[in-house]
Amino acid sequence: MEEYSGVWVFIEVDEEKNIEGVSLELLGAGRALADKLNVPLAGVLLGDNIRGLANQVIYSGADTVYVVDHPVLNLYRTEAFMKAVILLAEKYKPEIFLYGATPNGKDLASAIATDLSTGLTADTTMLDIDLEKRLLEASRPAFGGNIMATILCKKHRPQMATVRPKVMKALQPDDSRLGKIIEEELELREEDMRTKVLEIVKDVTKKANLADAHVIVAGGKGLGDQQGFQLIHELAETIGASVGGTRDVIEAGWLPHELQIGQTGETVTPKIYFAIGISGAIQHVVGMKNSEIIIAINKNPEAAIFDVATYGIVGDAHEIVPKLIQQFKGISK
Ligand code: FAD
Repeated sequence: MEEYSGVWVFIEVDEEKNIEGVSLELLGAGRALADKLNVPLAGVLLGDNIRGLANQVIYSGADTVYVVDHPVLNLYRTEAFMKAVILLAEKYKPEIFLYGATPNGKDLASAIATDLSTGLTADTTMLDIDLEKRLLEASRPAFGGNIMATILCKKHRPQMATVRPKVMKALQPDDSRLGKIIEEELELREEDMRTKVLEIVKDVTKKANLADAHVIVAGGKGLGDQQGFQLIHELAETIGASVGGTRDVIEAGWLPHELQIGQTGETVTPKIYFAIGISGAIQHVVGMKNSEIIIAINKNPEAAIFDVATYGIVGDAHEIVPKLIQQFKGISK
C-alpha cells in the first residue's frame, strides 16, 4: 500500500479533440486532494494526436501529465483505453484515481477497477481526505437520496471514484504553471483489439441543451396537468430558456425522460433556474442546487425548494407565471 502515491485524473477528450469539462473540474477537485495529501496531481491523457492538449492539463492544475498518443486510441474503446491505463497505473501506482461519471468514464473506471481488483465509488458528488488515515472519502447520495453515504476503500489501491459532471469547480487556467509531460510508448496493436468503431451516431435530443443551458424553466406536479404545464413552455419560449422537469412530471408523461433534472436525471448549473410548482425533494435538489440564481414559485410557503432558492415567490403558479410572461414580453418589445 505504501508504494502508492499521488492523485490521478483521467482526462477525457471528445471527438473534436477538446478536453471534456468534467476532466477540468476533476483537475480542480484533484488539486485540492493532492495539496491536502502533499503529493503531486497527474492527468492521464490518451488518444490519437492529442499531445498538444497536455499543457492545458497543466494550466488547469496538474503537476504531471502522462500522455499516450497512439492511433489505436483514436476513438474510445474499452479494451484499448483499459490496456493503456492499466499499464500506466501498474507502473506509477497512484493512490487515488478519478474519472468523470460520463458514459465513457464510467465504462473505463469499472473495467479498470475489476482488472486491478480495487474499489470504485460511482457517481460521487463530494470528495475529501481523511488525513490521519490518508483515505479518500467519496460521498454520494444513497437510499433514494435520503442520506449521503461516504465510501472508503481501505485495503486496495488505487482508490477510485467517478464524479458527476458539474458538481466540482474547475480552476481558472493559469498559463504560467509549469509541469512535467511524460510521454509513454506503449505497445498497442490494432489487430489485438476485438472491437472497431464503424460509425458514430450522435444523440441529438434536447438533453445536451439542458446540460449547457444558461437559463432553465423547470416545472413540477404543482402545475396540475399537461395543459397547466404549457405555462412552463410558454415562459421558457418567452425568455429563450430550456425546459426541464421533476421525475413526477416525467412519470406523468408531461415531458420526455431526457428532460428530467435530479439524482436520476441531469445535473444542471445554469445562471438562472426557475423552479415552478416543485416541492424541492432532495432527489431533485441535488441536480440543480449549484445553479447561480434559483427562483422558486410555490403556493406552499413551507416548501423545501425555498431552502435553496435565491428568490422565492409564494403563490399560485397559474396566476404568477402568466404575469411573468406578460412582463417579459413587455421588456422584449
Ligand atoms: P410534488 O412533490 O408533488 O410537489 C408539487 C409542489 O407544487 C408542492 O410543493 C406544492 O406545494 C406545489 N404546488 C401545488 N400546486 C401549486 C400551484 N398551483 N402553484 C404553485 N405551486 C403549487 N425527482 C426528481 O425531480 N428528479 C430525480 O432525479 C429523482 N430521482 C429520484 C430517485 C429516487 C430513488 C427516488 C425515490 C425519488 C426520486 N425523485 C426524483 C422523486 C422525488 O423524490 C420527488 O417525488 C419529486 O421530485 C417530486 O416532484 P414534484 O416536486 O414535481 O412534485
